[in-house]
Amino acid sequence: MTDTQARKPTGTVWDVETDVIVAGAGCAGLAAALGAIERGAETLILERTGGWGGASAQSGGLLYLGGGTTLQQACGVNDSPEAMAAFLRAATGPGPNIEKIDIYCDRSVDHFDWLVSCGVPFKAELYDEPGWEPSGDQGLMYCGGENAYPFNTLSEPAPRGHVPQMTGKRTGVKGGGWMLVHHLAKMAGLRGSSINYDSSIERLVVDDSGIVTGVIARRYGTEQAIRARRGVVLATGGFVFNDDMLSEHAPHLLGRLKLGTDGDDGRSIRLAQGLGAAVARMSSAEAAISVDPRLLVRGLLVDGTGQRFINEDSYPGRIGQKAMTEHDGEIFLLLDEAGYDEDAARSFGLGLSWVGADAAELEAEMELPKGVLQATVDVFNSHAEAFGTDPAFHKDPKWVRPLSGPIGAIDLRLGEMTFATFTLGGLDTTIDGEVRHVDGHLIEGLYAAGRTTSGIPATGYVSGTSLGDATFFGRRAGAAAGLR
Ligand SMILES: Cc1cc2nc3c(=O)[nH]c(=O)nc-3n(C[C@H](O)[C@H](O)[C@H](O)COP(=O)(O)OP(=O)(O)OC[C@H]3O[C@@H](n4cnc5c(N)ncnc54)[C@H](O)[C@@H]3O)c2cc1C
Repeated sequence: MTDTQARKPTGTVWDVETDVIVAGAGCAGLAAALGAIERGAETLILERTGGWGGASAQSGGLLYLGGGTTLQQACGVNDSPEAMAAFLRAATGPGPNIEKIDIYCDRSVDHFDWLVSCGVPFKAELYDEPGWEPSGDQGLMYCGGENAYPFNTLSEPAPRGHVPQMTGKRTGVKGGGWMLVHHLAKMAGLRGSSINYDSSIERLVVDDSGIVTGVIARRYGTEQAIRARRGVVLATGGFVFNDDMLSEHAPHLLGRLKLGTDGDDGRSIRLAQGLGAAVARMSSAEAAISVDPRLLVRGLLVDGTGQRFINEDSYPGRIGQKAMTEHDGEIFLLLDEAGYDEDAARSFGLGLSWVGADAAELEAEMELPKGVLQATVDVFNSHAEAFGTDPAFHKDPKWVRPLSGPIGAIDLRLGEMTFATFTLGGLDTTIDGEVRHVDGHLIEGLYAAGRTTSGIPATGYVSGTSLGDATFFGRRAGAAAGLR
């Protein structure tokens, strides 16, 4: 028997008993604990590190919410659940999770109100520039390319990135996500959840009929058998820090920058698979391109053949996914002097690797196939000069202007930093977090949420859908376990 298989210790004597066990104190686990408590369940959170937070606390804090939240209304934004669903169905495909998207959009306004009721603060101010996060403590922004082609042709674009208000952010270390989990953890404690730190789940316990009845956790080197009278919720994050799992399911992520914590080792996924759990979309991943979007929109992105492949005002996660999976990560950003100078400070330290007096000279410097880059720039410039449009890739006219004078190229192939990744695939769950068995039945007593599961960010990623999905379906998973 391997450690990923569930087993019932012979003659189990439970060290601890509770109604609902939640594994992981990131945003999914904390929301699950709150959901279980709301159903009157005694709840114990097990967290392998010495504090709450996980990747959620490192994150920018964007929650993809909409349909007319009070924050959107306060910022004068019109939105509807239908427009939000139309966008998410398109942007999170191919193979979007329609069932999850529909309930998520229908109840998004309530979910925002619930987060506010947990104490999470949001400032009613719109940040209206392209970017990964607001530059200050603004509470609302576009964060998924809603206002860029092709999505602006599908439904009314609306800013849906809801960002907890926080000053003194440190990007990637302590962002708006810290504020989110700070309040969820505080509320879970106030409402009576217990939490054991330095407590890692090692195995699942099942009874003779296959119902999950508890876990074996390791705390300070000692094993504890903990009984869950109603259910176990797995919320220990994804698997980007497990190279064996990446090799098997998402080899294109190997060698890329990993976003998250070393707790993203896929343990919960493997534990559930040991019981026959089904997984979904295991090759899907966020691939954030590490260039400031304000610089991207001012240039032309080309691949290793010197051809454009996307509108540069797309959501940068979409650009990253396309570049990584369809162009082997071979991409360059062309800028003329005006574009570079306008935003050089925002180049994240990325300098120009080549400069040419014109596209022909640049192409030779870069050793690209003769004539291709030249044609790319000529076609773009001819339409930009004549009509101010980009008929090939539909970049918004506000960013369309011909490249003139010397042209430089930033080499975006450089190192592992270009694509910052985390996994999106995971356990196949219902809208109530129940874990499906490969044969289609539900594994009784077992629930999961957050990046341990495949959710709203199915294949395509949109900023804010991870925290949004994790808190929304985390709360539902906890509630379902609490009611069992
Ligand atoms: C720099 C950065 C910026 C990001 N920005 C955004 C953003 O703005 N919007 C967005 O939606 N997403 C963002 N993300 C992604 C998002 O943060 C994560 O996908 C999300 O937080 C996952 O939440 P989770 O609760 O599933 O996992 P986590 O928050 O990672 O929580 C999992 C918890 O489980 C614990 N754990 C692990 N193994 C065990 C075990 N065996 N036993 C017990 N506990 C265990 C971990 O220690 C951790 O505390 C960002 C990520 C990073 C790193």
